[in-house]
Amino acid sequence: MIDAYLKHEAERKALGIPARPLDPEQTRELCKLLEAPPAGQEKFLLDLLENRVSPGVDPAAEVKAGFLADVLHGKRKSPLLSKKDAVRILGTMMGGYNVGPLVEALSVPELADGAAQALSATTQVYDAFDAVLALSKKNAAAKRVVESWAKADWFTARPGVPAQVKVKVFKVDGEINTDDFSPAGDASTRPDIPLHALAMGKTRFPGGLAKIAEFRAQGFQVAFVGDVVGTGSSRKSACNSVLWAIGEDIPSVPNKRRNGVIIGGVIAPIFFNTAQDSGALPIKTDVTKLKTGDVVVIDTVKGEVRTEQGEVLSTFKLAPNTLADEYRAGGRIPLIIGRALTEKARQALGLGETDLFTKPVNPQPKPGQGYSLAQKMVGKACGVAGVLPGTACEPKMTTVGSQDTTGPMTADELKELACLKFAAPMFMQSFCHTAAYPKAADVKMHKSLPRFVQERGGVALKPGDGVIHSWLNRLLLPDTVGTGGDSHTRFPIGISFPAGSGLVAFAGAAGFMPLDMPESVLVRFKGKLKPGITLRDVVNAIPYWAIQQGLLTVPKKNKKNVFNGRILEMEGLPDLTVEQAFELTDAAAERSAAAACVDLSEKSVATYLRSNVALMKKMIADGYQDAATLQRRVDEAEAWLAKPALLRADKNAEYAAVIEIDLAQLDEPILACPNDPDDVKKLSAVQNTKIDDVFLGSCMTNIGHFRAAGELWKGQKFNPAVRTWICPPTRMDQQQLKDEAYFSTYTAIGARIEIAGCSLCMGNQARVPDAVNVFSTSTRNFDDRMGNGAKVFLGSAELGAVAVNLGRLPTPAEYFAAYQEKIAPKAAQVYRYLQFDELEEYKPKGLRTVA
Ligand code: SF4
Repeated sequence: MIDAYLKHEAERKALGIPARPLDPEQTRELCKLLEAPPAGQEKFLLDLLENRVSPGVDPAAEVKAGFLADVLHGKRKSPLLSKKDAVRILGTMMGGYNVGPLVEALSVPELADGAAQALSATTQVYDAFDAVLALSKKNAAAKRVVESWAKADWFTARPGVPAQVKVKVFKVDGEINTDDFSPAGDASTRPDIPLHALAMGKTRFPGGLAKIAEFRAQGFQVAFVGDVVGTGSSRKSACNSVLWAIGEDIPSVPNKRRNGVIIGGVIAPIFFNTAQDSGALPIKTDVTKLKTGDVVVIDTVKGEVRTEQGEVLSTFKLAPNTLADEYRAGGRIPLIIGRALTEKARQALGLGETDLFTKPVNPQPKPGQGYSLAQKMVGKACGVAGVLPGTACEPKMTTVGSQDTTGPMTADELKELACLKFAAPMFMQSFCHTAAYPKAADVKMHKSLPRFVQERGGVALKPGDGVIHSWLNRLLLPDTVGTGGDSHTRFPIGISFPAGSGLVAFAGAAGFMPLDMPESVLVRFKGKLKPGITLRDVVNAIPYWAIQQGLLTVPKKNKKNVFNGRILEMEGLPDLTVEQAFELTDAAAERSAAAACVDLSEKSVATYLRSNVALMKKMIADGYQDAATLQRRVDEAEAWLAKPALLRADKNAEYAAVIEIDLAQLDEPILACPNDPDDVKKLSAVQNTKIDDVFLGSCMTNIGHFRAAGELWKGQKFNPAVRTWICPPTRMDQQQLKDEAYFSTYTAIGARIEIAGCSLCMGNQARVPDAVNVFSTSTRNFDDRMGNGAKVFLGSAELGAVAVNLGRLPTPAEYFAAYQEKIAPKAAQVYRYLQFDELEEYKPKGLRTVA
């Protein structure tokens, strides 16, 4: 074991990173060795035990805690470990498997003091609180623990935000998105923080890691500085990589760092929250006078960034006002957990509320206050009528989604949070990003992650089932709140605030989530769509109209974006189906909105829920786990169907901006042009552009899009000048299209049919050739996402299908002619959605038609 570990350590050292934490098998071997340590290896073995096993409820932590408990009980002995040492080491494991043995040790006189000290510093004790409280009635050490929790020693013992920090600046000009920090192509290494961090900035700021390392070797703390930091996907891995480069080691937690200073002219909201949760210090301030290599002093008391000579370069305010507490606690999540424990202990001791923690300053509702739809939905999840923008609240998380490139990190966070059971009533895990072309690590993850999720009461999909959102949306309840570790977790019914994997894990484990309620922007639609203008054109009309009104600008420098960090609320489309509503909410990610919601009719939602109930029942019958969780969701959906009612915005609700869009004015398809989802143009502005690849797929699509494409291709010959990629979002869509004989049309024009999932959209597996022109129905067209140097247009499946036939973007006249001829006569047939309750194989057995 030692030889194998040292070999692995040497390989990693050659890469400049530490060895991976020990797995359960290695930990087992280690514990055996500790009982009879080989001469000369004593220090090394002890260090492995203390510092190279992940804490919480990691399986290796279970082995470690079990061994240490055996030492306490005298069942196993090590010449290197006294019982007191075992207690001390258990005290560094953060919660989970270590808590039971520590509580027991409170009743062992010679160990009680050490156990009390260890438990006082441990906040993730959950149900063990009651055991310690009961013991405290007769046990002095347990009493000291409860008193210590009440005094929040776990908090006060830690240093707060330093009044002044001297840092050397590493600055990246312009916008740095989370893909720049954590490239999609390296997604499989994300759970291995140090290894993944080696890919940080490799295309956006090559050489940056070496520069940061050079500054650190000079003895400086390094601040990461950018004009616009952390836009794009909600990637905890992005924050992990930054903190690995600039942060500090966490005692007894291998391969993770915290306490880095991140400064941005703009810091994207999800990235900001992720930094808060990770114990970093994110500061928003003017960065124009900062450049790489500058040594500056950050004065957190005065809110100034100064040169060493005292010249003020910029000013800031630490915000929110709870940020300093969060930093001190090691992050926003540790603060919430610890604060809850302190409150519980104070209540048990009959003490009043402590004034130790900074209280958020919340706006007060006026008499007769009106609330928007989002404000009411979040209000409902908080048990109040509405929640005003700027309120720090903790809404109940009814549904939590996790996808496979962030899932392993979410699992690691859940282990660190010592979560053995989800408190959120629905936690769903998908495998859509890695199903088609899994790497070795993905294959391993496909086997282990489902069990991890199911053991905790979550629902695990299977590789090949399809895209996370196309499934998660089917499990939703109206007017409820949720989250997900994929930035496109944007519920079409209810509302979702996507987050990084740390916060998603917390939401799953705790059943609620901290939220600073954002303001809302209302988009109000009116008028009727011209035939041939699709929902995707409506999606692109939102930035188009915002640009016309000066509320959005395309250039990155001094960018204006009214949607950034706000909630995009939409109304005025009474006949919209829930499937269509998702196209609108999904694209809120591209607007950098914090969330989105749509005002829908009870009829649309009821139709969707009836279909979903049939799907969930079929999932149970097919053996999907956790069946009890699915059944509870079926019951809740049926309860809503028995009495359908939806929340609506008040007339006097207030919005940061209102954008009115007259759909009748949409006279041409609108496309997002290379390579910016905000750079929207009418088709005539880019008509006749040569197209090399067309991708029809992603969570933006539903079965209607693929039928429409099939109709436009019927009778067409294979056009070898265009590679066509087809990826219906779920296996049910695939099957239905096959049953309707559309697959034969797809192969006739030479389309490549991908396994249901994310496919080209994610760009981590299949990719287009370098520098080609692509037309795609996917969500975003960031540089290099689908292929290196690819120029990507985003628009409707219908437009894409015509582009396949022509090898170029059509003119509006060509497009409308094709639509009128091929689709308009059968539009009702083409745009039917998957209504599972009407499909034979989804009916309960006794009700199926016998042929
Ligand atoms: S299809 Fe694309 S946007 Fe949707 S979940 Fe997959 S990668 Fe994300």
